[in-house]
Amino acid sequence: MARFNESYLNLNQSYLFAEIRRRTKVFTDAHPDVRVIDLGVGDVTLPLPPAVIRAIHEATDDMARRETFKGYGPYVGYEFLRAEIARHDFGSRGVTLGVDEVFVSDGGKSDSANLQEIFAPDCVIALMDPVYPVYADSNVVAGRTGRADAGGRYAGIVYLPCTAENNFQPALPRRHVDLIYLCYPNNPTGAVVTREALTRWVEYARAEDAVILYDAAYEAYIVDTEVPHSIYEIDGAREVAIECRSFSKNAGFTGMRLAYTVVPKEMRGRGVDGTPMSLNTLWARRTAIKSNGPPYIIQKAAAAVYTPEGQQQVRALIDFYMENARIIGGGLAAAGFTVYGGRNAPYLWVRTPPAVSSWDFFDKVLAEAHVVGAPGAGFGPSGEGYFRLTAFGSRPQTEEAVERIKTRL
Ligand code: PLP
Repeated sequence: MARFNESYLNLNQSYLFAEIRRRTKVFTDAHPDVRVIDLGVGDVTLPLPPAVIRAIHEATDDMARRETFKGYGPYVGYEFLRAEIARHDFGSRGVTLGVDEVFVSDGGKSDSANLQEIFAPDCVIALMDPVYPVYADSNVVAGRTGRADAGGRYAGIVYLPCTAENNFQPALPRRHVDLIYLCYPNNPTGAVVTREALTRWVEYARAEDAVILYDAAYEAYIVDTEVPHSIYEIDGAREVAIECRSFSKNAGFTGMRLAYTVVPKEMRGRGVDGTPMSLNTLWARRTAIKSNGPPYIIQKAAAAVYTPEGQQQVRALIDFYMENARIIGGGLAAAGFTVYGGRNAPYLWVRTPPAVSSWDFFDKVLAEAHVVGAPGAGFGPSGEGYFRLTAFGSRPQTEEAVERIKTRL
């Protein structure tokens, strides 16, 4: 029998969203007549923009003709898409990126889980806490963390607590770390970072020879004009930061699968003997080994997001979800809950009542309001005492969920 990777045994219980599904199923099996509203998993509900659908049809026709048929594509994505990304998402904000610094992939989940692979096993990692669970879990199975204590805290992770007390802005680590996961706008708290705070992170990374893995999956939701959209808007970030983005939450690609990662040419790692190595080259090697790139049809669909109609249609999707956020935030605040987020991000971060744990509150909201949320503790130890609701539901479901929570809890 082959030995398996025992680091998998170090994972905390099951993946958060799998546990949410499991508890929801137990409840719905026991109460088949109850109509449960799901505002738990952050999955979009509106269909794809028409410009994207048209591109899918056209790309499908390309695949039907010998002259335009595509087999394997470039490992790192087609240039037509990488060029649009560099021009629209960065050039328009005064950030110059080379096309060969953009790596197209099948998801922000896979990118944010895989990036740790190009770093040494003994790198010290720091995480915002709470945050998207994939960063911690991918480092757990890579053997960097050891086992969690009874409170779900891994000795091998440097946690950067983000709570109402510090306005959801973590302090810089007090010790040296090698990799820092920052997620802004933040899932789950909905917090954004100021230019000054992000500058401090870049300065820290430069001083410590650390790398920032900057996840901007929710960048399109930023409305406050002073909030940076990309870490590369900060001077000096090109030497220390990798940025990930996704088409999932802006253009509704959760079922299509498309994202990208930017690794600037200036970024260096070092070998044991101090030899510098280009991280762009290393990530390109890793991508060539493990990927044949996302499907041509999906990349064509993503490129349509950058057309004028595509941009307008994506804006309408985001506006729709942000109106949901306003309804949830306003409704729960009126009912006496303390609510954060929901302004530059499609997540509402709600304080649980005093002395009620986040999983107990999850069970209570499910049992009494028949609404599924996500318990804060599932996003990290500092998420205890909070509960996340997403703005991705339909309008009637969102309104009804708020009404039920207001009247039944
Ligand atoms: N990054 C963050 C912070 C997320 O919240 C999510 C999804 O919820 C992802 C990445 C994953 O995005 P994708 O659908 O591209 O895998």
